[in-house]
Amino acid sequence: MQHNSETGNTMIEALKEHYHQFHKSLPNRSVASQVLDLPEQPLSEHGCDLLRLDEDIVETITPHFSGSNGGRYLGFVTGGANPIATYADWLVSLYDQNVSKGGDSIATAVEYQALKWLKTLFTLPGSFDGLFTTGATAANFLAALTARQHLGELQGINVAENGIGALKHSIFSACPHASMVKSLGMAGFGQKKWFQVNSHGGKESMDVTHLEELLSVQEGGQSIVIASAGTVTGTDFDDLNAIAELCKRYGAWLHVDAAFGIFERLVNGPQGKTNGIEKADSITLDCHKWLNVPYDCGVFLTRHKKHLQASCDVAAPYLVGDDQFTPFMSLGVENSRRFRAFPVWATLKAYGKLGVTKAIEGNLAQAGQLADWLEANEYFQLVKPCELNVVLFKPDSVKLGKSTQECMQWLNNQGEVFFSPGQWQGEPIMRAAFSNWTTTELDVKRVIDALQELVTITQNPMGTM
Ligand SMILES: *Cc1c(COP(=O)(O)O)cnc(C)c1O
Repeated sequence: MQHNSETGNTMIEALKEHYHQFHKSLPNRSVASQVLDLPEQPLSEHGCDLLRLDEDIVETITPHFSGSNGGRYLGFVTGGANPIATYADWLVSLYDQNVSKGGDSIATAVEYQALKWLKTLFTLPGSFDGLFTTGATAANFLAALTARQHLGELQGINVAENGIGALKHSIFSACPHASMVKSLGMAGFGQKKWFQVNSHGGKESMDVTHLEELLSVQEGGQSIVIASAGTVTGTDFDDLNAIAELCKRYGAWLHVDAAFGIFERLVNGPQGKTNGIEKADSITLDCHKWLNVPYDCGVFLTRHKKHLQASCDVAAPYLVGDDQFTPFMSLGVENSRRFRAFPVWATLKAYGKLGVTKAIEGNLAQAGQLADWLEANEYFQLVKPCELNVVLFKPDSVKLGKSTQECMQWLNNQGEVFFSPGQWQGEPIMRAAFSNWTTTELDVKRVIDALQELVTITQNPMGTM
């Protein structure tokens, strides 16, 4: 492996070209790629230079990336890297800091500052500690570990040291994200070992009366409640104040998954739908979603750092240090860690609270615009009023003569828009999630045109999908 200033210049020139070509392509790039297979290639024996490599990349790979960074990718809750975060992410690779433990770089202090700014941004108490994770899934996993350690302490078991075998636990949730269920499995609780709390009719939010019935028959110190601030399909928010009150009364631990719902706080303040989140024992946030930083970046926060640390710390002679900060490797899964805090730090510094809030407001308006159009159109049904950034709808399969899946497949294949599937009250639906900072009214219009085109084609006796 060789490096000289010429390599640097070549890299920068090549990057410039990628940057310009990609941005030029976005308005017309197929939102979802149709080419998914990479032709077989043997492992190179002698390698090649950067220019040769780049030719190959430009020919076989980049044309087939999705347009998920653009304004009409409405699947999942994807976001799209903003320019400042993209730039900072380039620097992350250039400087290649390992934010494992402090003592040799300012990177640890930057991560702490970024966390502090996030707490300020979302008006969360300074008493929350935490760290950046690879995403909300990893944050939910840390939540499961921290809760586990807490129950263990109450029951006289050090779970990190002696395992979960003897631990008594009862876990309650109404509509946990799939990643939370996965995390319960990974933490040793078991994916199926939680109690389903009823939801309110027509919503995914927790029926608090039912939760109380369930909690009141448990022994103190064995219950974990997993609440949602923004469920991934219905964007419903649990009544966090009422739930926190019950958790206090019955000695239960409260985790809140607020991966993208936390951003509602920027629009409606701490008295809005997330009111009460500050009383949680731990919180999950996602930055690669609505903060529009590049993958991957989530955040785990807890008011009980000692339990997190007890779960993630291990003694090793070569790791001893005299850091002024708790080493992040003692608070998370990885020992070696990417400096993923930097794009967040840069985003908050460059756009400020107002800049971030404006992007969120824009997405809310766009979701509302699409929802209004769907509601007024006889060929589509809005299955739930749009209350945040996600629009749930389905085509009228009788009038269009096509199932929801067929319509979504057709729409996604056209390349103008990308929706992801969902289920609402047992029925397949389409989800349109607005979370990209570049989305404009013109994009919404193009999405509507694509839906209109679907109607035209299905209504034309000669049309084939
Ligand atoms: C997206 C999401 C997750 C999982 O997040 P990743 O960043 O994809 O790991 C967890 N919870 C909720 C509510 C989400 O929306």
